[in-house]
Amino acid sequence: MNNNIKKIRDELEQLQTNVDGRLDDYPDEQISLYTCEEALNAVMEGNYGVGCVLMGPSGDIVLRGHNQVFHPYFRSDRHAEMVVMDKFEDIHQEVLDMSGYVLHCSLEPCPMCLARLISARIGTVKYVASDIDGGMMHQADKLPKNFIRLAKNQSFVQSQSSPDIQKIASEIFFLNINELRDKLFKRLPV
Ligand SMILES: [Zn+2]
Repeated sequence: MNNNIKKIRDELEQLQTNVDGRLDDYPDEQISLYTCEEALNAVMEGNYGVGCVLMGPSGDIVLRGHNQVFHPYFRSDRHAEMVVMDKFEDIHQEVLDMSGYVLHCSLEPCPMCLARLISARIGTVKYVASDIDGGMMHQADKLPKNFIRLAKNQSFVQSQSSPDIQKIASEIFFLNINELRDKLFKRLPV
C-alpha cells in the first residue's frame, strides 16, 4: 500500500477510536469519518477520492458509496453522489418524499452533482471539506433561476465535523488528483 494512503488510513483509525468524545462538539463526526473511509476506498481503486453516505429520516445509514469514474471502467458521471443516488433511486422506487434524507459527502459537490441533488429533491446535503476550485455549493447563487427556485426547501451546508476530519477529507481528494487529471486530459489533448 502506498505510504500516503497508509498514513491516512492510520489517522482515520485513530480518529475512529476516540470519536465518541467529539460527538457533542461535532455531531456529524462519525458519518464524516465514514465518508472519508469511502473516499479512501475510491483512491485505492484508482478513482477520485470522494465518498458519500446517505442517511434516512430516522438517522439510519441507507447507503454508502464512492467515486467510480475510472474504475471499473470510465464513466464520466460516476461521482460519489451519483453512485449513491443512482442506486437509491433504483432500489427504493417506493420513496416519494426525500425531505428527511441527508446525503453526507466527503467533498463539496461539483456543479453536475449539485444539479442532480437538487433534481433528486433530497432534503439535506452536507459536505466535509470545501472544494474552492471545483465545488458549486459556495456559489450556488450562480445556478440557473429554476434550479435556485427548486432548491428553496433544501439545505446545503458544511458538516459539523472536526477540523481534523475536514483536513483528512481534503487530503484524500488530493492523493491522486494530478495523476487522474492527466488521465482525464488525455481523453481530449490540448
Ligand atoms: Zn460531482
